[in-house]
Amino acid sequence: MPFSALQSELNERASLGLLRHRHTLQSPQAPHTMVDGKSYLSFCSNDYLGLANHPQLIAALQQGAQQHGVGAGAAHLVSGHGATHHQLENELAAFVCKPAALLFSTGYMANLGVVQALVGKGDTVFADKFNHASLNDAMQLSRATVKRYRHNDMTQLAKLLEQANGHGKDAVPDVESRHARFPLSSSPPEGERDRVSLRESHVKCGRKLVITDAVFSMDGDLAPLPELLALCEQHDAWLLIDDAHGFGVLGEQGRGSLAHFGIASKRVICMATLGKAAGVFGAFVAAEQVVIDTLINHARSYVYTTATPPALASALLESLRLIANGDELRDHLQRLIAQLRSGLRSLPWSVMPSATAIQPLLVGGNHAALNLSAGLRERGIWVAAIRPPTVPQGTARLRITLSAAHRAADVTRLLESLHELAQG
Ligand SMILES: *Cc1c(COP(=O)(O)O)cnc(C)c1O
Repeated sequence: MPFSALQSELNERASLGLLRHRHTLQSPQAPHTMVDGKSYLSFCSNDYLGLANHPQLIAALQQGAQQHGVGAGAAHLVSGHGATHHQLENELAAFVCKPAALLFSTGYMANLGVVQALVGKGDTVFADKFNHASLNDAMQLSRATVKRYRHNDMTQLAKLLEQANGHGKDAVPDVESRHARFPLSSSPPEGERDRVSLRESHVKCGRKLVITDAVFSMDGDLAPLPELLALCEQHDAWLLIDDAHGFGVLGEQGRGSLAHFGIASKRVICMATLGKAAGVFGAFVAAEQVVIDTLINHARSYVYTTATPPALASALLESLRLIANGDELRDHLQRLIAQLRSGLRSLPWSVMPSATAIQPLLVGGNHAALNLSAGLRERGIWVAAIRPPTVPQGTARLRITLSAAHRAADVTRLLESLHELAQG
């Protein structure tokens, strides 16, 4: 059998309690779902404001399809960039208080694109060890030197930046040669592009880029953005934050983690996703205009892919209005978070220091986490067990996520079931 080696690898994973598989949803994304033919109360989605199934978004998507058709038909740089995409970019930029923004198909692609466009060989990326997989992949692909620091450890990051200062001294910032062949805002001719970007990645610049989740996706805690920014200023580094879980939830009107901390610095590049709190699909990067122009010219995951359907942008424009006017949703979410945390305290598993909608319950072993998840499932409650390599060895957990679409009674039911399982 030509694939027998693959089967034994999968068997090995299964014996470690690490085999991944999917469940099939037969209803829209909502707290009460049908999964594999059975109804569940779900605490798994990242639909933090309950917008994924919102009637106004459904109507906006339908209207968008009537008006613009279904497919964009081409990449943004060819003929796929529509007026609705453009309006959405402008509104997103204004919403997060940045001069410009650029839409990407997914957060994964946005992270790949932005890191690879900004740094290459001869540059250094500094990254939190708990960063999302897409940021980890992005820095590996960029060919920059990678320095990872312990989770939120500003002392270690400061040391690493200090050391890089010494090494970067003779590297000449060579923006000219990096971009010489194609001035910003014009795209390289077809066929030229691959050779150009390969050449670019060999230019030595000594640039420094610090990258971090703003809200850590498997822990729910926040990065200390003011301290990170201070270090970046001190060492002349750029700061890329991934606000996948802060956008729509944190800060005034849900403007995200930068607003939450009151940070407005040109040095900060903000990526956020649109398939979580925004309830739709996609992602954007917001930054200074020169950064956005650089992405348009150099981010391969932007240049070489079809634009998302314009109707998604129509739905997202509506979503942005609901987010901005969503204080009641966010207040309700905060009350659910407080209710859950106080109820979890008396359980044998640890609550983690999170004030966000991501409330992991630390179990430890892989099988123990799977068993707890299975026990809940028997009681009609769906919570995902998260295991290595997504989280460090020995820290398997239930990742409970709350949504403004949950009711207090839903949280009560989850807590009662967990207390039953703790006794049995
Ligand atoms: C979900 C997520 C992404 C990826 O976003 P997609 O739009 O789902 O591809 C990136 N970063 C973080 C922190 C995430 O949680």
